[in-house]
Amino acid sequence: MQHRSQLLRREGRTLAFVPTMGFLHEGHLSLLREARSRSDLLVLSIFVNPTQFGAGEDFDAYPRDLSHDAVMAEDVGVDFIFAPSANAMYPSGYATFVDTKGLTKVLCGASRPGHFQGVTTVVTKLFNIVQPDVALFGRKDFQQLAVIERMTADLNLPVDVVGLPIVREGDGLAMSSRNAFLSAEERRQALCLIDGIRLVVAAVREGERDAGQLLELVGERIAREPDAVIDYIRICRRDTLEDVDTVDADSVLLLAVRIGKTRLIDNHMLFEEV
Ligand code: AMP
Repeated sequence: MQHRSQLLRREGRTLAFVPTMGFLHEGHLSLLREARSRSDLLVLSIFVNPTQFGAGEDFDAYPRDLSHDAVMAEDVGVDFIFAPSANAMYPSGYATFVDTKGLTKVLCGASRPGHFQGVTTVVTKLFNIVQPDVALFGRKDFQQLAVIERMTADLNLPVDVVGLPIVREGDGLAMSSRNAFLSAEERRQALCLIDGIRLVVAAVREGERDAGQLLELVGERIAREPDAVIDYIRICRRDTLEDVDTVDADSVLLLAVRIGKTRLIDNHMLFEEV
């Protein structure tokens, strides 16, 4: 892949890159379509990255379907799929990790120690292998995007990082490969995340600015579902991810909720319509 990228870039071709863990859905396809429109060539990576999963997390169970992904990728005009083995990415003796401080210690970083170090390491490796001009990420993973923007700037990586909006199912559930784990009953309960977001957006529209009051609305809505366990619900500044007391146009609601065994995340800027 690296050799091909070097040759193509020498010919003056521009490369857009969408890194994923596969089991593609419309959220991934929205990134691929936008990427397609931004460059001569489009590279999709599919790699379930072991270093971003903690012990006891769902690395083994994570859904995989490379042949179906390949059909979907071809449909949206992907030129190259880069799908390395874990051994090719982390051969024996592998010893180097990229660590971003601060932003990675809160929210998902607090619940999943080591997760973001796995993400920043694999994204750095992928950027070095694929050598894209532009890489596209979803705002579904809000914190991940913030961390990757920070890392790319800090390490002077020559890649434009672009974030795109969350793609949702018709009823509002944020699309995720992990939704495949939900039973019909859990799928119904999973709507508490988007319901919580809608309650907060409506309250903000009516003038509520107190973060504590807004978080209570979400907490109460989620507590109504028997299989829902809150990992975190927070209202943070979009750039630093620090908690806020009084919300403004830079405030984002971030949620991580377990529905049964499946951990779902979602987020929304409080002054934007849902
Ligand atoms: P994943 O395969 O889950 O690691 O996701 C690969 C990329 O797709 C990441 O940049 C995600 O943020 C993005 N993505 C996943 N789900 C969605 C969604 N529902 N809407 C927009 N982007 C998404």
